[in-house]
Amino acid sequence: MESAEIRRRWLRFFEERGHTVVPSASLIADDPTLLLVPAGMVPFKPYFLGEVKPPFNRATSVQKCVRTPDIEEVGKTTRHGTFFQMCGNFSFGDYFKEGAIKYAWELLTSPQDQGGYGLEADRLWITVYEQDDEAEAIWRDVVGVPAERIQRLGMGPNFWSMGVPGPCGPCSEINYDRGPEFGPEGGPAVNDERYVEIWNLVFMQYERGAGDGKEDFPILGDLPAKNIDTGLGLERLAMILQGVHNMYETDTLRVVIDKATELTGVPYGRSHDTDVSLRVVADHMRTAMMLIGDGVVPGNEGRGYVLRRIMRRAIRNMRMLGAHEAVAAELIDVVLNTMGQQYPELLTDRQRIESVALAEEARFLKTLAAGTNILDAAVTETKATGATVLPGDQAFLLHDTWGFPIDLTLEMAAEQGLSVDEDGFRRLMREQRDRAKADARAKKTGHADLSAYREVADRAGTTDFTGYLSDTNEAT
Ligand code: ATP
Ligand code: MG
Ligand code: MG
Ligand code: MG
Repeated sequence: MESAEIRRRWLRFFEERGHTVVPSASLIADDPTLLLVPAGMVPFKPYFLGEVKPPFNRATSVQKCVRTPDIEEVGKTTRHGTFFQMCGNFSFGDYFKEGAIKYAWELLTSPQDQGGYGLEADRLWITVYEQDDEAEAIWRDVVGVPAERIQRLGMGPNFWSMGVPGPCGPCSEINYDRGPEFGPEGGPAVNDERYVEIWNLVFMQYERGAGDGKEDFPILGDLPAKNIDTGLGLERLAMILQGVHNMYETDTLRVVIDKATELTGVPYGRSHDTDVSLRVVADHMRTAMMLIGDGVVPGNEGRGYVLRRIMRRAIRNMRMLGAHEAVAAELIDVVLNTMGQQYPELLTDRQRIESVALAEEARFLKTLAAGTNILDAAVTETKATGATVLPGDQAFLLHDTWGFPIDLTLEMAAEQGLSVDEDGFRRLMREQRDRAKADARAKKTGHADLSAYREVADRAGTTDFTGYLSDTNEAT
């Protein structure tokens, strides 16, 4: 079943059951606490918090999501992308646990010729929050899932809150057993690659007060209205329904891998490392195009830096696969063609998206051309002394003179078996900033001519990138 069909069926199923279909919001969150949308519930947050009265009491969507904290998993696990689509159904004070559980079961297990996804019921494993007897009883007694396929988990995975006082509640997740070739048995509590999580049902049931941290905040009591927030990963379901081993091999991503193969001559399946690179390229190129499509432009902080880092990683992985020319244009083309079927605005906005991406590629190739030799020399020198840590002043020089962000240095050094003295690097950055401040003060009082420092400070000021990873929180 194609991704587009999975999406259509989702929306139709819930629409037929009284849900208003709400189009995906932009990836740029309309929310000061988030850089990018990490979950389907984000556009509905004001309704859940009771700040705004919802115009409907049931809704469904397929929301574009980006989770930058998952970047290190990309290509290595079978199920994490930086961009993915979260299919959701939401109840605002309408149906609750039993309704949500029954809908989920019906949609997943009813036959494909009756509008469902036709998953084998015996392969589905359920997790519930360890104290949620009610959810367990519904799964066992109402739906009929055998008790041995229902597992209880603690707060971490199975209790949801927004990290601020407000609604919270237990979750129940549906996991699919991909079979022994993916690892030993034992259920999702022990093996999350074999028993892959596909759908999270959140039962917003309680109100929490202020406290410190997830584990120990006071639950004040029941919410006046109980809500449902669910999220199913479209790519994960596609992986199962298309019978492939990971989400990068599904219809909308595999074509990008194939294009990368065509451009580099490296076939998929040659080795673990080249496969990881091919998957990173497919994932990151897609994420970058979706971000640019929603108006993000490459930059040195915030969303702009997320985009820059993701694009640069894609380009670097293409080079690791052997491409030495500019290669983005053809990859972009494939991504826009496949994703454009579900997001037609990508096609109407094609020219702008391409020109933003190609300009970034050109800029990065220049940076790489200038800095790679310096980095290689520093690596050789470090290794010659028998050390395994690249000195902080080298990382600082690469940053200050050649525009290498620290994580580029970290990644490129790691590829050659070295770590980097990050503390030393940050100390030099701090010193540079302090000098700049002192200079600014001196300039105001006219005490000294520190124009050389000023210049350095000006340059450093535009390359401050710390804190870019803290843009998402646990949601859904
Ligand atoms: P995991 O434990 O696998 O990292 P999660 O618990 O972080 O997933 P949720 O926050 O519960 O995920 O999000 C709801 C659903 O969204 C998940 O059940 C999964 O199907 C999908 N999903 C979450 N993160 C990703 C990702 N990085 N790539 C693809 N799908 C994802
Ligand atoms: Mg996760
Ligand atoms: Mg999980
Ligand atoms: Mg989850």
